[in-house]
Amino acid sequence: MTAAKNILAGKYWDEAWYLVHGCKEVSPGCDNCWARAAAHMRRKHPNPKIKSLYQDLTKTSPFKRSGVSGGDKRGGIVWNGKIRFNEDALDKPLNRPSGTVFSVWNDLFYEYLGDACVMLTFTSIIEAERQMFLALTKRADRMKFMTRKIYDYLMLTEPIPNLALGVTVETPQYITRLKRLSQTPAACRFVSFEPLLQRIIWTDEMFEYMSKIDWVIVGCETGLRRRSVDLKYIHEIVDLCNILNIPVFVKSVEIDGKIVSQLHRLPKSLQFRQFPELANLKTCKLGDS
Ligand code: SF4
Repeated sequence: MTAAKNILAGKYWDEAWYLVHGCKEVSPGCDNCWARAAAHMRRKHPNPKIKSLYQDLTKTSPFKRSGVSGGDKRGGIVWNGKIRFNEDALDKPLNRPSGTVFSVWNDLFYEYLGDACVMLTFTSIIEAERQMFLALTKRADRMKFMTRKIYDYLMLTEPIPNLALGVTVETPQYITRLKRLSQTPAACRFVSFEPLLQRIIWTDEMFEYMSKIDWVIVGCETGLRRRSVDLKYIHEIVDLCNILNIPVFVKSVEIDGKIVSQLHRLPKSLQFRQFPELANLKTCKLGDS
């Protein structure tokens, strides 16, 4: 269970599990990727071990930051597409107190991360049965494909109980990620509308996908280059979760130009820091398609 101090501050995990270093921008939600900025800084870290993990993963570009959204033409740092899998970190969760909630970083389903690395990650998660893992991706197709492949290979007939799989949906254009998630075997499926960049317009089809979702996270973009989103769009998602009885975690919102993350500072109507009840998870049909 996530520590109370983290929850109050707007964090839904306890520790980052730094397994995958490097990535590539895929959609507008990546434009201000903070992992990229952190990797760029750490490439010069005084500790040689840390430095070696982050070297040669980023480059500076005179053009758009990501080449994805077309929204920022000021230039800056971009991923160069290389990737590094930190095998040494695989058994780290075994050395932490029981009940620690790990967020798997960065995107485990990045296309250039080998199948064997994803498999090793899954088997480590199964081994660390006393911990909880959250794997959030923007590569929903590969998540579905790899998860099914690993379930087949390991002959799993039940969802891995300590692994929650999630997708980011920052604009309505990426709602297909929600569809893929609904077709992926998981003990807990969650969707992160964070950073929410546009209003999500709900259709009947989307309601159908949401019926397979166990948890929702929502929040605005943070950071110096953040793109504002109308507070009412966040309200709409929270209201929908309340109607559908889906636990919702409001991470941060922008009020009068300032980012608010502390629970007691959020508007009363947005003070939701809920988690899914793992014991009450919806039945997962491994063959859903
Ligand atoms: S998928 Fe995640 S880690 Fe990769 S570029 Fe986008 S925001 Fe950054």
